[in-house]
Amino acid sequence: MIDKISKRIDELREEMVSTMMKMIPLGGIGPENGGDGEIRKAEFLEKLARDMGLDVERVDARDERVPSGIRPNIVIRYKGRSDRSIWIVSHMDVVPPGSGWSSDPFTPVLKNGRIYGRGTEDDGQAIVSSLYAVKVLSDLGIRSNYGLNLAIVSDEETGSKYGIEHLISRGIFSKDDLIIVPDAGNSDGTMIEVAEKGILWLKITVRGKQVHASTPEKGLNAHRIGMRLAIAIDDVLHSRFSDTDPLFDPPRSTFEPTKKEANVENVNTVPGIDVLYFDCRILPKYSINEVLDVVKTVAEAYKAYGADIKVDVVSMNEPSFTDPNSEIVRRIQKAVKLLRGKEAKPMGVGGGTCAAHLRRAGLQAAVWMTTEETAHQPDEYCVVENMVEDAKVMAAVVLDDL
Ligand SMILES: [Zn+2]
Repeated sequence: MIDKISKRIDELREEMVSTMMKMIPLGGIGPENGGDGEIRKAEFLEKLARDMGLDVERVDARDERVPSGIRPNIVIRYKGRSDRSIWIVSHMDVVPPGSGWSSDPFTPVLKNGRIYGRGTEDDGQAIVSSLYAVKVLSDLGIRSNYGLNLAIVSDEETGSKYGIEHLISRGIFSKDDLIIVPDAGNSDGTMIEVAEKGILWLKITVRGKQVHASTPEKGLNAHRIGMRLAIAIDDVLHSRFSDTDPLFDPPRSTFEPTKKEANVENVNTVPGIDVLYFDCRILPKYSINEVLDVVKTVAEAYKAYGADIKVDVVSMNEPSFTDPNSEIVRRIQKAVKLLRGKEAKPMGVGGGTCAAHLRRAGLQAAVWMTTEETAHQPDEYCVVENMVEDAKVMAAVVLDDL
C-alpha cells in the first residue's frame, strides 16, 4: 500500500510544483499587516480541490476589514470507514515580504530543487503536500479506518480568530479526531512538536513632549526613555526568567524587542511619543502574568523620568501540550520510520501555530513537517523534495496497518 502511495505521489511531483507556482502570486497578507486577505488563494484552492473530485466545504468568517468581507477557510473531507479522522491543518495567510529579497517575493522562482517566494514554506508547502496526499488516497480508492481531512485556514499569522478559532467554534472537529499541523519542524522530519511555550506580545507606549531638537530641555524626549526602558525590560526579563527545559528548542524563554513604530519624520524634532513592542515566548514553568507584572513594574519605575508609560497586551496565549505518547505522535513516528528509516522525536518549541488553539480546545495536535525553516525570512523557499516526501507521510498516517 505504502509503495503504491509513494509511486503515485512521485508521479504528481511536477503538478505539485505547478500548483505552488500558481498559488504564490495570489498573496494572502492579512488586514493587520496591510493586506487584502486570503480570498484569491482560497478560490484557487477550492477550485483545484473540486476539480480533483474531493468533498469541499467553505467555512468562512466575516471580516469587514478586507475588501471581500470574507476570511475564507476550506474544509476538505475524505471519509474513512469509521467516524474518526486525522486532520491536517495548514494556513493560507502569509506575512509581509519585508526587505532583502533577491527577486519579487510574489513571483515564485524554481531553482535547484527549491521554489522561492513568500508563503512557499510557510505554509504553502503544507497546503500542497496535504492536498495531494488526499488526492492520492482518493485516486487509489484507499479507505482506512481513519479518514483524512484538511482544514486550510486564514489568519494564522495574526491571531487565528478568523481561521482555526472560527472552525473550532463551529464544531468542525470532534474530540476523538487527531490533528497534524505542518507549520514547523526540522530539515529531516525527525521533530514532532507536542508543546508550545506561552506567548506574550506587548506594546509599550512612552509619552513625553515634542519640541524642536535645538531646545530639548523645553520638552521630554520619549524616544530616549523608550530606548532605555526597552534595554531595562530586556535585561530584567532575561535574568528573572532564565531557567531552561530540554524538551524545548531553544531550551530557554525568549524575550525580544521587535517592532518599533515610526516617530517623527524629520531629524530636528524631539519625539514626543515612542512605541515599541516585545515578543515573549515563555516556558510553561513560568506564568505569563508573572512576566507581565515584571514588565509593568519596570515601566512604572521609568515614569520617574517624567513620561507617561503604558503597557498593553497585544496577544497572550497560555502554553499548550499534547501527550508525547498520543496516537497522533505514534502514527507520525511510524510513517516517518517506514518511509525514511528515521526516528522522529517529540519536542517543544517557541510556538504560535494553530496547534496551540486546538490543544486548548481539548484536541490532540502534533506539529510536524520537513522544513529548512526559512519562514518569515527574505528569500523564503520550499524544497520540492520536502513537499513531495511530506505528502507521502501525510497519506500514510491514516493507513490501518501502520
Ligand atoms: Zn506558518
